[in-house]
Amino acid sequence: MHPTVTPTHCPYCALQCGMNLSVSGTGGAGAGVVTVLERESFPVNRGALCGKGRTAPELLAPGLRLTGPLVRDARSGRLEPAGWDEALDRVAEKLAATRSAYGADACGVFGGGGLTNEKAYALGKFARVVLGTSQIDYNGRFCMASAAAGQQRAFGLDRGLPFPLADVARTGCLLLVGSNLAETMPPALRYLTELRANGGRLIVVDPRRTRTAEQADLHLAPRPGTDLALALGLLHLVVAQGRTDEEFIRDRTSGWEETRAAVMAHWPEHVERITGVPVPRLREAVAMFCGAASSMVLTARGPEQHAKGTDTVSAWINLCLATGRAGRPLSGYGCLTGQGNGQGGREHGQKADQLPGYRKLTDPAARRHVGRVWGVDPDTLPGPGRSAYELLDALGNEVKSLLLMGSNPVVSAPRAAHVERRLRSLDFLAVADVVLSETAALADVVLPVTQWAEETGTVTNLEGRVLLRRRAVDPPAGVRSDLEVLAGLAGRLGVDRGFPVDPEEVFEELRRASAGGPADYSGITYGRLAEGEGEGVFWPCPSGNPNEIHTQIPSDDPSEAVGVHPGTPRLFLDRFGTEDGRARFVAVGHRPAAEEPDAEFPVLLTTGRVLAQYQSGAQTRRVGALNEAAPGPFVQLHPRLAARVPVADGELVAVVSRRGRAVAPARISTDIRADTVFMPFHWPGEGRANSLTNPALDPTSRMPEFKVCAVRLEPVGPLPPPPPASRRS
Ligand code: SF4
Repeated sequence: MHPTVTPTHCPYCALQCGMNLSVSGTGGAGAGVVTVLERESFPVNRGALCGKGRTAPELLAPGLRLTGPLVRDARSGRLEPAGWDEALDRVAEKLAATRSAYGADACGVFGGGGLTNEKAYALGKFARVVLGTSQIDYNGRFCMASAAAGQQRAFGLDRGLPFPLADVARTGCLLLVGSNLAETMPPALRYLTELRANGGRLIVVDPRRTRTAEQADLHLAPRPGTDLALALGLLHLVVAQGRTDEEFIRDRTSGWEETRAAVMAHWPEHVERITGVPVPRLREAVAMFCGAASSMVLTARGPEQHAKGTDTVSAWINLCLATGRAGRPLSGYGCLTGQGNGQGGREHGQKADQLPGYRKLTDPAARRHVGRVWGVDPDTLPGPGRSAYELLDALGNEVKSLLLMGSNPVVSAPRAAHVERRLRSLDFLAVADVVLSETAALADVVLPVTQWAEETGTVTNLEGRVLLRRRAVDPPAGVRSDLEVLAGLAGRLGVDRGFPVDPEEVFEELRRASAGGPADYSGITYGRLAEGEGEGVFWPCPSGNPNEIHTQIPSDDPSEAVGVHPGTPRLFLDRFGTEDGRARFVAVGHRPAAEEPDAEFPVLLTTGRVLAQYQSGAQTRRVGALNEAAPGPFVQLHPRLAARVPVADGELVAVVSRRGRAVAPARISTDIRADTVFMPFHWPGEGRANSLTNPALDPTSRMPEFKVCAVRLEPVGPLPPPPPASRRS
């Protein structure tokens, strides 16, 4: 029998690389052989994949993932196999009991940036319509919330990139701030290579000399927590050198005078003292950025995951606006979203303050519109709830029961030991996941769900490109989709309608709910996404007849109910998304990190990712080749700092912050500043980097300060010898 080949997308990061899945043998996972093939026709990755994408089918095998519900036995305290009815009954009973004892807001819902648009939409609706709780947020808050808030303030609209990624290769100068593309999204590195081959210049801002920084014409290595000062210093030089674009400022922006006044306080020498970046390097960066005919700034988690992340993003956007590098071809500001559906996940209602279509929960017109689509009185919709960390921090206190889907906060949340204690203090925890993650292991009920290749759904990549991920294999018999889980719970909680299990049916409702909103998907259909090479459609993509689509389910034939809007690959070329169409400068000033080094904690810690692991590692740590390539955490530190500890390369070193302690082998390198250590955050246990991180929140985005905190280092000694071979299994 010939293998079947299905075009689809990787389950991991926001690049959403296209791939073909070849399935041979008889049907389901574990029975057939699933092979990843290159899909060169998909324009974002053009066939290239990283090791995570290539090995993704391994997790389809029954041995590595959950294949049946688990319920905690009251007597033994252990998770025991159970049937679906028993598991769903237990979850529904507990949520209903919590609601009736403490009120709806005592039920929390925590989602994930990997959920498809349909799941994110259904989860938000479930929280607000079935449970009636305001307490829903998702781990995407930890990903791009500061960039989203900064873009909203400046442009009135937030989409990761306002242009296709391919534009990066044709700009004149790219200023890449706090992104290590070479490890997080390797196929995207080709755009940097093409940029330089085309004569463009690359500036990388990162406290470490990463594989991405090695590609740069200019590498600026600021002290962690000072990206805001760096951006202000560059803009100061732009003004001082008369390099502002006065015509653009006059015609397309507002608020420049306040911003100009604010940056004048940031003299280059002052900025050098704060950031550690020498003044000549600042001047070099300005010459490259302003000397090119077009320029871009792209930020990622480096400058965003701070208690001042939103202001930092504003400062980089201000640089773009003052130099006329926004709203023009091959120029602009963008954010490299991290999680697979971090973009779509926040557009359709699992964020604490949003309704589908990127509508605001506080907007009466938005509530009316979504209430009409959902068939509920808009006055019954709860208001905004707590942000992700605040929700986790409230567990066991104001929030008594939690339904968690596709997230592993025991590893990925800041101040993780505290979050773990809060999870343990819940009256009831239900987790829907593919694997028994560290968080699922704490649950009272674990619901095993289908994953990427076993289900159809849409995702929205970092460019705002809506894509169709197709089912290629049958799931194991004992698992259900998240949509089936939500439908099963809704029915048990008295809501028999409105939770279809067919993803396309959910998407049709999502189209109507998003119609007329900032993230308008109403002109997109599954049929359209499946056309041609499956290149996707960029939102906003309104329907040809928005009034019609508000009130009725469109016809199966897209040409009847859907207009011919082509989608919007490039935003802001004519006007920005603000009411007056002008981009807004936001005057910001530098402030120190929430926690600066002192005598007790004299070193800075920054955290990040490595090539072979993804986020909390719940999936990738189970894949043999990835685990072999990156088997555990480490502490990267400069030789001068290592000598002071003292610790030798490969020896264990303890990193201690005000919140906890982590121990991992030292990796001594001159690629990092001597005042800073780096730890990847993919692992649980004693090497858990997030035991140390600071949950201080950005006042606007509520983003925790993952990227900088004060620590001290303590020698631990050599690595213990491996256990004897006979005991290793
Ligand atoms: Fe998957 Fe991201 Fe790797 Fe592409 S870069 S294969 S989307 S993990």
